[in-house]
Amino acid sequence: MKIQIEYGMCDGHGECVIAAPEVFDLNDDGDEVILLDENPAEELRNKVNAAIKLCPVAAIRIEG
Ligand code: SF4
Repeated sequence: MKIQIEYGMCDGHGECVIAAPEVFDLNDDGDEVILLDENPAEELRNKVNAAIKLCPVAAIRIEG
């Protein structure tokens, strides 16, 4: 699976980091997500789906 982030929408709530810390982190200012793994393993799909659901601005998508 391939992750796409709409960086302009992200305002750093960090829900995605809590849901899937293997895939998402926050920058030092805590105001924008960092994608640690653009192509996470299938085993992480549930966690990524949780991150997508929890993101308050719907900035995360799975491509394809
Ligand atoms: S949950 Fe959404 S808004 Fe919050 S850091 Fe992650 S991508 Fe950004």
